[in-house]
Amino acid sequence: MISPVMPTYGRADLSFERGEGAYLKTADGRRFLDFGAGVAVNSLGHAHPHLVSELTKQAGLLWHTSNLYRIPGQEKLAQRLVEHSFADTVFFTNSGAEAMECAIKTARKYHSAVGNSEKYRLITFEGAFHGRTLATIAAAGQEKLTAGFGPLPPGFDPISLGDIEAVNSAVTDETAGILIEPIQGEGGIRVAPPEFLRALRALCDDEGLLLIFDEVQTGAGRTGKLFAHEWAGVTPDIMGIAKGIGGGFPLGACLATTEAAKGMTVGTHGSTYGGNPLAMAVGNAVLDVILEDGFFDHVSQMAGRLTQGLAMVVETYGDIIEDFRGAGLMVGLKCRAENIAVRQAFLDQGLLVVPAGDNTLRLLPPLIIDESHVGDALGRIEKACIALKAAKEGDKIGSADG
Ligand SMILES: *Cc1c(COP(=O)(O)O)cnc(C)c1O
Repeated sequence: MISPVMPTYGRADLSFERGEGAYLKTADGRRFLDFGAGVAVNSLGHAHPHLVSELTKQAGLLWHTSNLYRIPGQEKLAQRLVEHSFADTVFFTNSGAEAMECAIKTARKYHSAVGNSEKYRLITFEGAFHGRTLATIAAAGQEKLTAGFGPLPPGFDPISLGDIEAVNSAVTDETAGILIEPIQGEGGIRVAPPEFLRALRALCDDEGLLLIFDEVQTGAGRTGKLFAHEWAGVTPDIMGIAKGIGGGFPLGACLATTEAAKGMTVGTHGSTYGGNPLAMAVGNAVLDVILEDGFFDHVSQMAGRLTQGLAMVVETYGDIIEDFRGAGLMVGLKCRAENIAVRQAFLDQGLLVVPAGDNTLRLLPPLIIDESHVGDALGRIEKACIALKAAKEGDKIGSADG
């Protein structure tokens, strides 16, 4: 018989009762260092005092009104996002997939509004992940996401990441824009080279295409800047964010320039919950903290410490973890051993990480970690590597005996 919870996840047999900063505790008192942060969501860790206080304050006042009325928290958060980004306008959603749906719709609607309704296709990238709705699985195009869910909405042309020639030749009269994650998250922390992002921007400018960034995972300070694309010195026309901006509350947003949002007029798009007062209280609270002077420098410093330590790990245990990559506190460990086995060894040492494609594990710690957490994580990683190595030696001896 099927379980009451639809069994679409392979879950670790582990649950938590409470969280404190970078640590999670089980009901039976075991303590785990959370370097997964609910897949880059708990950007300020667990039970951050400012988030708790802003959420509970709002909870006693007003939860929800719908978007039939003005929502002051929305106007405030939108204004702040606009001030700190390329964007002129913001649509709020409850998730990353919805933010990306809005991004895709905004791009199509733009070309329709300017009289080019034949332009509806987006160039996308192999290994991408944009969510689990029909349009976003079609955009990612991976068989493991799409199998059995067809027919899918048409209009997505996946190209190999980093291949500007291939992108150039994929542009047709029907191309509306290009959709890319500055760093692929689910795909295994595959970084789009800055010069590639710049080339995409130039191509979009030349061809009248819209450049869309999916910063659902990379945004909200994760890489040591508010948005990852700032490292490349280019801006998109449209961008989806979610995960870290909500700090654990379901919140996403689609940001756009005035020009790109041309088609998004009254009645064209909506969401019952999107941007409700509770979500806005938390989103504003997250920004209060991450926009404080020195916060992003702190992220970069912790990232520096972490990667220094990881360089030693790779040097010593290269037969288990062969390399690491990423930006800021979005780090992928490229495993030589099977990533799921390495993840289990980490778990045995009380360290939570997130598996990803290309045989990697993602380290996505809360951005508020300090040196003690980095040291703690590195210690647990080293112990896990020692255990894995010992198990491997044991196997060898075992098979020699056999
Ligand atoms: C997680 C993620 C999404 C989807 O977000 P949901 O909140 O799960 O819908 C989209 N794009 C990227 C890059 C993501 O990492």
